[in-house]
Amino acid sequence: MKDPWEPVIGLEIHVELNTRSKLFSSAPNHFGDEPNTNISFICTGQPGSLPILNREAVKKAVQFGLAVNGTIHLSSHFDRKSYFYPDSPKNFQITQYDDPIVTGGAITIEIDGKPKTFGIHHAHLEEDAGMLKHFSDYAGVDDNRAGAPLVEIVSLPCLHSPQDAVAFAAAVRLIMLYLDASDCNMEEGSLRFDANVSIRRKNETALRPRIEIKNMNSFRNLESALNEEIHRQIDLYTQFPSLPWEELVFPGAFRFDPSNKKLILMRRKETPDDYRYFPEPDLGPILLKQEYVDSLRDTLPELPYDRYRRYTKALGLSKHAASVLINDKSLGDYFDAALAHCSIPQLLCNWIIVEFSGRLTDGQKSILALKIPPQHIAALVSMIDQGLITSRIAKSIADDMVHNPALAPETIAANNPDYSPVDDADKIERIVDQVLEENDSCAADYRAGNEKAFSFLVGQVMKKTRGKASPQIVNEALRKKLSQ
Ligand code: MN
Repeated sequence: MKDPWEPVIGLEIHVELNTRSKLFSSAPNHFGDEPNTNISFICTGQPGSLPILNREAVKKAVQFGLAVNGTIHLSSHFDRKSYFYPDSPKNFQITQYDDPIVTGGAITIEIDGKPKTFGIHHAHLEEDAGMLKHFSDYAGVDDNRAGAPLVEIVSLPCLHSPQDAVAFAAAVRLIMLYLDASDCNMEEGSLRFDANVSIRRKNETALRPRIEIKNMNSFRNLESALNEEIHRQIDLYTQFPSLPWEELVFPGAFRFDPSNKKLILMRRKETPDDYRYFPEPDLGPILLKQEYVDSLRDTLPELPYDRYRRYTKALGLSKHAASVLINDKSLGDYFDAALAHCSIPQLLCNWIIVEFSGRLTDGQKSILALKIPPQHIAALVSMIDQGLITSRIAKSIADDMVHNPALAPETIAANNPDYSPVDDADKIERIVDQVLEENDSCAADYRAGNEKAFSFLVGQVMKKTRGKASPQIVNEALRKKLSQ
């Protein structure tokens, strides 16, 4: 039977921007330093201090909005969200409530080979809170993060499985990396997810009550928390079909405990009224010029999904190969740099993501660590394509390139007699004669129209030359002899 339930998930993704200073002060925006060293009067909320907006943070928010084809608002403003908690030195957060800088937009991704488009409700700028650090008998406050710039991206409730949610979150991460707007380091909390989850019968259109899971910082936690919550809600509705929905799933904010995979209630749902939002009196509106927005649009880098389509459609790479290349921007950039010197994208891609990546040693995370100029890999691939070397010799040359990254493959080949292919036509013809003699039934098969027999004979010749015969000459010699 088909699953009668459909999850409805909306994500709020907090992305910490990689600006040098904080959103409203010149204090350094840097993770991992001694507690309370990256602070100023402004981030610690000293009386009389006034915020000054960071231009670079605004730029990155606009770039994200453009990347997802959202509407960039030439005028937006900040609001004050009041809440008392020890990690909030001012007792309020400066955020954007009803007038965000970006609204709308969408992200398209391929999931299981099919393109899916997920809508974005809005994206806004806000400042981060400080952090509490818990020790055995006390807790400390570290305000290094207080006032760090965030873009919060709020999706529409259009995600219908934990897989969709993870794919959307991963796509946001990749876009931010392509824009160089964030380091997206999840272990350091640069990317944090809140999820709103409800479920409903597949034919229902209305939404049932939802709960919120706060502050997850890995894709794995996001996926398991959603799975847990979806099953919990299904169980409740199944066990108590006649009870009102509101009595089964009551709104609240939970956090996910990954160690026992359980959701822990933090607080019953608060309403916007609880936060007493009002326009931030210490800051003017964010006013943008259309020319500024246009110039940022004109200088956007190629985005992950566009690159994916170029690789699969224009270059004919496999979906798998294209995904490997786009998921690491520097690897894709490297491939593109090599592609400028080589006209065989599929073979080039294979040499980069299989052959050279397979030659990485422990601790080397990317082919970039090999320090081989991309045009050298392009040259190697062209040499194979032109029949100048066999793929067996190419593998040996590749080994040498790894040990001597400065040497071009042409130089390596020229300096080592073992790497010159056997292209002496007379010598190859003698070997072909020998092979035909030893495999006369195979030759008869070929003459009877069996093309496979030909490949077998080529293989035999290659074997006798230990992979060094020029495939072109072998082919010609074989065809000639077989047609005699
Ligand atoms: Mn937020």
